[in-house]
Amino acid sequence: MNSRFNVIFRLTIRFALLTTSLGLALSLPRQTEAKLFLVATSTDIASIARFVGGDKVDVESIIQGYQNPHYVDVKPSYMVKLHKADMFVKIGLDLELWAPILAEGARNSKILYGAPGFVDASVGAEILEIPQIRVTRELGDIHLYGNPHYWLDPDNGKVIAHNILEGLRRIDPENSAYYEENEAKFDKKVDALLPQLEAKMKPYAGTKVITYHNTWPNFLNRFGLVAAGYVEPKPGVPPSPAHVTSLIEKMMMEKVKIIIQEPFYETKISQFVANKTGAKLVILSPSVLGAEGVTDYFSLFDYLIDNIIRAFQEMGIKPQT
Ligand SMILES: [Zn+2]
Repeated sequence: MNSRFNVIFRLTIRFALLTTSLGLALSLPRQTEAKLFLVATSTDIASIARFVGGDKVDVESIIQGYQNPHYVDVKPSYMVKLHKADMFVKIGLDLELWAPILAEGARNSKILYGAPGFVDASVGAEILEIPQIRVTRELGDIHLYGNPHYWLDPDNGKVIAHNILEGLRRIDPENSAYYEENEAKFDKKVDALLPQLEAKMKPYAGTKVITYHNTWPNFLNRFGLVAAGYVEPKPGVPPSPAHVTSLIEKMMMEKVKIIIQEPFYETKISQFVANKTGAKLVILSPSVLGAEGVTDYFSLFDYLIDNIIRAFQEMGIKPQT
């Protein structure tokens, strides 16, 4: 009995070893061909990651283009996604307050802060409105480390691309040259497109606009427009009646004709302000896939510039020649 048991035991072991090595043999070629899996928090960062990673990566974003990046309900499916990730790219500056919980829940040491697969896209970017005094979240302000909507300047897009390149070099050094080439192509595309966009907006230089949330300083600066005020008194703080009254007065005084609002906020108050001042409320998505036809980082800027100019024209704001 004993020897029979031994034989069966040995056969079972051999069979197990055989199937394991068979499994390895079958899976090895697939593993070498497998693409890296990059997870970005936002669609904008994901779009840039696709340019840099090319056909060696699969990229997904956590949030969708129509969502407010500041406020996201963490879902288990996001953790599952991150569990499988080779790289995690964040906008940074505490924009994604929800991200640390997600990263911890994902149980993936490759993408934790400081690991090779962790990328903070903001490193080296031009960050505006860095507070000179300590700002606390208790006062409601959610832009504690400067304005985190910095991707809205294509020059910062190049910095984001570079940070992603650095991450790819760390986790996939064999393909560094390929990623470097892609990053160079991306930079070249920005350099070709940006002067065209600037030229389109140049006749409207100095035009004042109101924005709902303080999403746009990098964009406005880049394209020569001016924020005369915000519907939110502070980023993340809903407007009070007193603030609305003073905003209306300011808009009347300074003849501001455009209110830009992100699609994920309630329009009631902005529409009220627009009605009182004769201004136009323009809903504009600051993100890739947040509006029809905005399929990548480059079409985002075409969409923004074209829609703003159209609104200017509708409001009789004349280009200066
Ligand atoms: Zn914000």
